[in-house]
Amino acid sequence: MAQLETDYLVVGAGAMGLAFVDTLLKESDAHITIVDRHAKPGGHWNDAYPFVALHQPSAFYGVNSLPLGTMRKDTSGPNAGHYELASGAEVADYFHRVVQQVLLPSGRVRYFPMSSYLGDERFVSLLSGEETQVTVRKKVVDANYFAPIVPAVHTPKFSVADGVRLVTPTGLTQIWQHPDQLPKRFCILGAGKTAMDVGVWLLNSGAHADSISWVVPRDSWLINRASTQPGEEFFEHSLGGVAKQMRALGQATSIDDLFARLEADAQMLRIDRNHTPTMFHYATISVGEVELLRNIKHVIRKGRVQAIEPNALLLDGARVAMDPQTLYIDCTASAVEPRPMLPVFQDNKIILQLVRAPLASFSAALIAYVEAHHDDEVQKNQLCATVPFPKNLAGYAETNLANIKNQMRWTQDKSLRQWMLQSRLDGFGKLVASVMPDDAERMAILGELRSQTMAAVSNVPKLLAELR
Ligand SMILES: Cc1cc2nc3c(=O)[nH]c(=O)nc-3n(C[C@H](O)[C@H](O)[C@H](O)COP(=O)(O)OP(=O)(O)OC[C@H]3O[C@@H](n4cnc5c(N)ncnc54)[C@H](O)[C@@H]3O)c2cc1C
Repeated sequence: MAQLETDYLVVGAGAMGLAFVDTLLKESDAHITIVDRHAKPGGHWNDAYPFVALHQPSAFYGVNSLPLGTMRKDTSGPNAGHYELASGAEVADYFHRVVQQVLLPSGRVRYFPMSSYLGDERFVSLLSGEETQVTVRKKVVDANYFAPIVPAVHTPKFSVADGVRLVTPTGLTQIWQHPDQLPKRFCILGAGKTAMDVGVWLLNSGAHADSISWVVPRDSWLINRASTQPGEEFFEHSLGGVAKQMRALGQATSIDDLFARLEADAQMLRIDRNHTPTMFHYATISVGEVELLRNIKHVIRKGRVQAIEPNALLLDGARVAMDPQTLYIDCTASAVEPRPMLPVFQDNKIILQLVRAPLASFSAALIAYVEAHHDDEVQKNQLCATVPFPKNLAGYAETNLANIKNQMRWTQDKSLRQWMLQSRLDGFGKLVASVMPDDAERMAILGELRSQTMAAVSNVPKLLAELR
């Protein structure tokens, strides 16, 4: 068996693993070994459908030391006027460059693609079958705990009769290969961000809205992309938007009231105003995309798909007749399966999780900074308290409260505060720091943000207690 020694063994070369390694490399003199089953760095982005893109601007995504994107704004399409969203191919290429241009040239990183971690500090090459025993001087880092489940690697939970055509979003883009079997109708299964991407792609690529059916088991509240823009010119939308979100959290009398306020303030969007969403997963969308999706009128709200028969869909609550020449597109992979929150630091193990939702890259980079500069495990876990990913609407309030509490702890740690100011992944941090004291308008927005955040901290526990 091959042997090697390293300080940190990182399992997973996705966004979180690479953001962690990049910061740890900069903040320490550690030697790091990365193993990943995929052929290339970038984790789930290697399995993504061709028209996938980041939900949020490229500016806050990736690793600290290498910018992603060019701060260009889209000039056409439903995202026009907003900062570019990197496509899946751009993100995968970016992570390839991170490994080739930043990590490997340091001489302190080794990367083993096509290698599966077996536990007990051993991994196996998926190509040669050869096992390697690693002597880990410091820690094993689980950079896979928060990994999403994407359509290409998901198995549908419903049955599909012979002859029914069910494809992934990638398969949808390949129907040109069978011009003699073009579908008469399309049916999108699922109501998450992938399903929305498919709807937008179909409509933008020439499908008629009345040829599309859409199975929507639950409606979702969606973040208005206008409030996630990194540029200065969006200050009022972005930081003013966060102030509005805090005001809603601080003043809401119930969870329903909270979302009503967020919608009234244009912070949250929904596709159909006649249906009250029950889901929130941080899907982010532009007003233009929502308007486009509203053109799809054949929406089936009868629960989840149980089976697809040649002429019908069997749902939780009904049987719906369908055209036999329908192409079904499986968007039912739940990208974010709920999982228990664990302490990040556990003796000789680190489990990368969110410490600021929904920013996975920033979270992993901050954990690396804390690992490099702090020794006491209790203090480290206090600084890196895990933030739950919302499972339901109340989860939005819970997640925000956890985000705020972490932010408060971080601002009390001077060196961490300094690091955050330099971090390109730190959302609006730089925008806040750039405000000049004599800029009365922006100072007023920041003042409002601070006071509303304090109101949120006192109101959210009451909201959550009432639910219990
Ligand atoms: C469509 C989509 C859009 C998104 N947009 C945004 C956005 O705009 N902004 C944002 O902040 N976040 C966004 N996210 C979430 C974000 O991409 C993060 O990438 C996410 O949290 C997962 O990153 P990860 O590194 O944890 O997982 P992954 O990317 O899945 O990486 C985990 C890696 O671990 C490897 N692995 C697992 N087990 C083993 C093993 N035993 N041995 C070896 N290797 C193993 C896998 O091969 C994989 O490469 C988006 C997610 C999706 C699905």
